[in-house]
Amino acid sequence: AAGAPAAAPEPAPAAGAHDGDGPLIRFERVVKRFGDNVVLRELDFNVEAGERVTLIGPSGSGKTTILRLLMTLETVNGGVIWVNGDPLSHMRKGERLVPANERHQRQVRRKIGMVFQQFNLFPNMSVRRNITEAPVHSLGVSREEADQRAEELLEMVGLGDKIDEHPTRLSGGQQQRVAIARALAMRPEILLLDEVTSALDPELVAGVLDVLREIARTTDITMLAVTHEMGFARDVSHRVLMFDEGQIVEEGPPEQIFGEPREERTRSFLHAVL
Ligand code: ADP
Repeated sequence: AAGAPAAAPEPAPAAGAHDGDGPLIRFERVVKRFGDNVVLRELDFNVEAGERVTLIGPSGSGKTTILRLLMTLETVNGGVIWVNGDPLSHMRKGERLVPANERHQRQVRRKIGMVFQQFNLFPNMSVRRNITEAPVHSLGVSREEADQRAEELLEMVGLGDKIDEHPTRLSGGQQQRVAIARALAMRPEILLLDEVTSALDPELVAGVLDVLREIARTTDITMLAVTHEMGFARDVSHRVLMFDEGQIVEEGPPEQIFGEPREERTRSFLHAVL
């Protein structure tokens, strides 16, 4: 904001702070501001490899910002986000950590797939090209292999017959299932889901959620989902984090959060949405 003193530069995180078997994702005192609006205040939480975590809470509580920070679509104003023991904002140079460059960020991003509320498919490319472009150009996978993987993934999301279709000819639910296949084509370790059914007509929601339930059942991909679909959150999550004003007010297994919430804030939120 105008007139506000510039924030002191954050000291680089200590190299070697990670022993290799820690959490897959670690938020350490993460601060995120937009102007004067402090969205995340010294947020701490971990996600283990293979864990499926859902973020719930009122609109504006910072849930989407968390996913966007992980995807390096936003940068932190303080604290450190670690993925696999490496800080997102820094890279190793011998024993030292130095600020990340574009190439490092691309490498980190490659481990992470994200599906957005607005499917964000490339409208001028076939479904096939939507799914195969990134593996071919970023991972160096052969066209043949990428094609084969696209076919398998489209089968999995129930769209095996749409591979040569254009996205604009598909329903919203079908487009979102293509977007899920596209994210998985990069073989990410982490799948981020940002309110993936919020833009869909109600009758299309179940099909998308069923695909995600199946992915949860059949893979060990680490999932971090922001959702308003409480039934889905209950079915797939190992852990639910309830957010309010950029902080975790309560967390626990879904049976506890939905069955016996401890905090009044959680109870009133669930009462309003269920
Ligand atoms: P949630 O996902 O819980 O609804 P968000 O993370 O989208 O919350 O937003 C948290 C806060 O950050 C809101 O007050 C929102 O207005 C603000 N915000 C998010 N993105 C931006 C941005 N690009 N510029 C300014 N403010 C933003």
